[in-house]
Amino acid sequence: MHIFRDEDANLELVQNKKIGIIGYGNQGRAQALNLRDSGMDVLIGNRSDTYSQKALEDGFFCLSIKEVVKRVHIIMLLIPDEVIPNVFDQIILPGIRDKCTLVFASGYNIAFKQMVLPNNIDVILLAPRMIGVGVRENFLNGRGYPSFIGVEQDVTGNARQIALALAKGIGSTTFGAVEVTFQQEAELDLFTEQCFGPAFGNILTSAVDLLLERGYPPEAVLLELYMSGELAYTFQKIAEMGIVEQSSLHSLTSQYGSLSRGMRFLAPEIRERMLEGLNEICSGEFAREWRAEQDKGASSLTMMKEIARSLPLHKLESELLEATGKPRPSVHDSEKNVQAETISFNRDIDTVDSQKNGKFLAGWSFQGLVKDFLNLHAYRNKGKGLEGKEYQVVLQRFLNKCESDKNLIQFAAETKICIVYQIEHPQLIFFMQFGDRKIKTGFGEPQTEADIRIIMQADLLDSIFTRQTNAMRAAISGKMRFHGDTRLAMRVQKIQEDLCRIYIESRN
Ligand code: NDP
Repeated sequence: MHIFRDEDANLELVQNKKIGIIGYGNQGRAQALNLRDSGMDVLIGNRSDTYSQKALEDGFFCLSIKEVVKRVHIIMLLIPDEVIPNVFDQIILPGIRDKCTLVFASGYNIAFKQMVLPNNIDVILLAPRMIGVGVRENFLNGRGYPSFIGVEQDVTGNARQIALALAKGIGSTTFGAVEVTFQQEAELDLFTEQCFGPAFGNILTSAVDLLLERGYPPEAVLLELYMSGELAYTFQKIAEMGIVEQSSLHSLTSQYGSLSRGMRFLAPEIRERMLEGLNEICSGEFAREWRAEQDKGASSLTMMKEIARSLPLHKLESELLEATGKPRPSVHDSEKNVQAETISFNRDIDTVDSQKNGKFLAGWSFQGLVKDFLNLHAYRNKGKGLEGKEYQVVLQRFLNKCESDKNLIQFAAETKICIVYQIEHPQLIFFMQFGDRKIKTGFGEPQTEADIRIIMQADLLDSIFTRQTNAMRAAISGKMRFHGDTRLAMRVQKIQEDLCRIYIESRN
């Protein structure tokens, strides 16, 4: 194991160089303040707005990005990853000085080939494992925080030393810096966001779901599981002491209970899913999909955020926060964030009109989709579910009707897709194949490969097709899982209403 500490870095290497911080947001402000406090000569590059106003208030010189690039030896790119390729090509590249140092705070754009670099400069990585506020706080309190450093291009022969000096300047080597490649940094980062985070989130929401179903008061459930802050505190202790040793901070009952019962949650399936996610990341499949999504204005991201906000759990959280006197920032603020993220992708740097996309969210209304996620359980408890044999009869009738439905035939004229439904309890597989104005259905696996495979319990399928539960929401909550092409899966939403109508007719 190798960790670079303060004694491995020489600040003098960068003290005689001008450093340009591009962007004065989360990381930009924190890193600029830390570097200045470490004795560096720092200039801020930002257009004239509230960010540059903040930089001026903090006592920095702030110029346009173009002007800063002309004046500095080290350029630190601290603007969102989504806008870096355009800003670099249009503003930075034309003015970049020979043998200067370009610093990324994330490996994403290089790892996934979103931009081309000139070969006459040093290119390094300095990626804090800490949010901007923490970068500043942990510098001031002397604790430091970890960073990943890396070297992509080294024309001066000094790139690694410069990366270490900057890591020391922003206060990271007090804790420790670790060397990785741009690729490793980007893949680890995405893995945490796409695999570990959602797996953990789903375990959390499964626990909420189960306890609410068993009738525990919602405020007690949310506080017990995560909203008291105890979980965050435990994670802090895990970071300081390790997983096993932190357990000594809990009661003996807790230690015995978690150690003796923990093994039953070793679910190999979760590891398989994580591997699937990691492969998507490493192959560049995710980066390509995200690029395409940005090119169309990130409408799917907006939609998924909107749906997630419509979940009853979100509402329960708001109620609890209000009851404890700490209301969360208004939905209006959150929506503004979504807009800001979306607008910035394709922004023309010199002619910005941040008002023009003000109605971005107006087209999405999911009032009809918002249903209490307890509905499914209420539905089950009312005993309206189908029995095993009935189920197959209804499905056979449903598939027959689908084949001759004129709306579905129209869909089959526009879309070629093979959907496999894999039902659990009772186990059953059926498929629907659309294309060339025809619909082919049947039980078992189809002859051609499925484009999407939807997996869920029988009673959930019944609940979705009888409009008791929203399909998209079931997918987000993890009750319905799918494999295959996400965009094709979203297209199936178009016929969801027809499928419900036909299913209800068949069921009746
Ligand atoms: P922010 O979202 O906080 O960046 C905001 C800054 O970027 C503002 O100064 C804004 O200025 C500028 N900006 C936004 N869009 C554009 C544009 N189109 N052209 C020029 N400037 C623009 O970014 P972060 O600090 O969150 O992230 C910066 C880098 O740090 C990224 O590479 C990220 O991956 C990395 N990172 C972030 C971490 C975090 O905790 N946030 C942690 C570790 C690494 P204006 O809108 O006025 O132009």
